[in-house]
Amino acid sequence: MAGAQTRCMSCRAEAVEEFLDIGTIPVANNFVPADKLDSPEPAYPLRVGYCHNCKHCQLLDMVSPTELFDDYTYLSGVSDTISEYLRGIASGLVGRYSLGPDDLAVDIGSNDGTLLTGYLAHNIKVLGVEPAKNLLELSSAAGIETVCDYFGLETARDVLKQYGKASVITSINNFAHVPDPHDFVQGVDVLLKEGGVFIVEIHYLMKMVQDGAFDTIYHEHMSYWGLTPMIALFEQYEMQAIRAEVLDIHHGQLRVYVSRKGELEPDETVGATVNRERELGIPGWETCSKLANNAYNVRTELLSLMDKLIDQGATMAGYGATAKGNTLLSFLGVGPDKLKFIADRNPIKQGTYTPGHHIPVVSPDRIATDKPDYLLILAWNLTDEIVREQSDFLDQGGRFIVPIPHVRIL
Ligand SMILES: [Zn+2]
Repeated sequence: MAGAQTRCMSCRAEAVEEFLDIGTIPVANNFVPADKLDSPEPAYPLRVGYCHNCKHCQLLDMVSPTELFDDYTYLSGVSDTISEYLRGIASGLVGRYSLGPDDLAVDIGSNDGTLLTGYLAHNIKVLGVEPAKNLLELSSAAGIETVCDYFGLETARDVLKQYGKASVITSINNFAHVPDPHDFVQGVDVLLKEGGVFIVEIHYLMKMVQDGAFDTIYHEHMSYWGLTPMIALFEQYEMQAIRAEVLDIHHGQLRVYVSRKGELEPDETVGATVNRERELGIPGWETCSKLANNAYNVRTELLSLMDKLIDQGATMAGYGATAKGNTLLSFLGVGPDKLKFIADRNPIKQGTYTPGHHIPVVSPDRIATDKPDYLLILAWNLTDEIVREQSDFLDQGGRFIVPIPHVRIL
């Protein structure tokens, strides 16, 4: 991995200043199987900075993408809600741009091919680009042809040679993972047909700041995009945002439609979103500092609460073995001495251990047998659902701790 990067990956100015240091921690998605508990676990610095020149937020330390994505365990097709959402993006684009059998739709970071299956009913030619080799079998079973590679200028040229130009290119939840957005945008420019549209969707910085969701900072998320810095990036390649949508899924997404300048007409949503960012000071140094201060406060408060409760003889467990839970626990340095276990409904995660501090992940059945006094909700965006599901725990006198945006007991 490279050293600290104060050069902005978007505008290339030496203007990135650190605002939050999560610590040197393992990759948040890497739950450890029982037979690997004694293997060395690499840890990397996780620090976030703000570019005073173009307002882009990014990590200061880059982990090599092959460490992060070659064997990716997140499957789009596993959740019905996410599958429907992704296929809906495809059918929405078919309608909006009147796509037909002559059109090619490319999805970058196509995962198991779920989004592209949404085009098949309309007889549109589809192609996935996905670096994770372990997902290839799944996409090919779904009838989706996939180029197994990272997307950039070189891959775009290869795809162009073999498949021709694309009418629509989608990039859903992977643009933030890209270490070199310039190479990526140049690839889009090469592959996109005249009058074609590139649709990029990312976890929206505005929502992250508003929710105080510093736990969505992971090594995989190299960028934290707002619309304003994104427009500045595309401008460098004579491209423009033509539409911007703020969506509720994944607790707050920004979807931006992009075309070459002069090819398609921008609508009013672009100016409205930029204005809203300006009014709220997002992205901005002050809002970034506020996010960081809140993170440090959560750490102090939660640790002192846990220490106090443990001193009083209380026992604690976690609920929701999530990547963001791992960012939080690593940031706090919490291990099994404080949280006895983490309950999670996903059978694939049960039997594994959290990266770094090795808290065991178990079935939620353990809550009834072990009867911890407190459950720390790590998937705090799903608090209502979890509290409903665990009503027996509450009825028997158990209490919940919600960590973010502020520490509170339910
Ligand atoms: Zn910049």
